[in-house]
Amino acid sequence: MNMTDIEAQLQQELFALPVRMKHIATVGDMKLYTSEDLQRKFIEAMSKNSRLASSAGAIKSLVSQQRVIPCYMNKGIFRFLSHKILRSGAAKMIMGFYHSETGKIYMLMDNNVSFMGYGPNAMLADLLIHECMHMFSIQRGRQFLTFFKPELTKYYEALYRQIFQIKTSTKFDVFKVVQWTHKTYESTSSWPSSILITQKKFLMDYFKTYTTLSADQFEAVCLKYVFIVRLGLTEEIDKIVQERDKFQDILGPARNIYKTVFGGATDSFVYQELFIPSEVIGIFSEVDQSSPKPIKAIALIA
Ligand SMILES: [Zn+2]
Repeated sequence: MNMTDIEAQLQQELFALPVRMKHIATVGDMKLYTSEDLQRKFIEAMSKNSRLASSAGAIKSLVSQQRVIPCYMNKGIFRFLSHKILRSGAAKMIMGFYHSETGKIYMLMDNNVSFMGYGPNAMLADLLIHECMHMFSIQRGRQFLTFFKPELTKYYEALYRQIFQIKTSTKFDVFKVVQWTHKTYESTSSWPSSILITQKKFLMDYFKTYTTLSADQFEAVCLKYVFIVRLGLTEEIDKIVQERDKFQDILGPARNIYKTVFGGATDSFVYQELFIPSEVIGIFSEVDQSSPKPIKAIALIA
């Protein structure tokens, strides 16, 4: 028996799956398993959650159509995803993601997750709402942009004002930038190799008349912006984390603006906002829990 066999056997024993599990999907090279029992418990837990109580029907329909798939995770899946999902402590028991190739949301839970506790239940609901915002954006782009235009405008106007040092008195139509970004990155999952050149050109052409930065500074910031997008597209998130001090003049505002415009801070590692507008709405749904809009949006996709 070689090392790999021992590891495989250990994993199988340590992370043995509960009975009556059905192989539901393979994402990357990870097999995901679900069961009717897990689906039933998930729907029940979400209907008891205060934020989702009025969306019980929508959640039930998303789960029964298998567009939202609650499934178990094993250690391998955690390793596969942990570089993508950088969240703190407790959230590691629960992970979720929108998978653009299949158009489904996978909600991954530790085998031992309890649906009874308030903590895990609320965390699960927040995560589900966040992922539904990505689904809304990718599957109904136009409607998503119209529906969340005020929130997207607020966030991106503040972001670009800071990044490119645009005076408060200078008006610019940031929604055009949001639409371009959405069309370029969220309406497709494969990008042409020239995408970064196009992105840099777009930023430079669009903001050159508004920025107060010198020509050299302005170009350097555009280049840095595009470099972060590049690392995001190639999923080299660890590199963004390692170099975060160097990216501070872009990632700092991207993170702090949540508090300024939506009134709540996030503990997520912020970088996707630079090219994925629906991430802004996902985080908005977490930090402003008093807004009814994300919940209304779920009814629109169900
Ligand atoms: Zn997200």
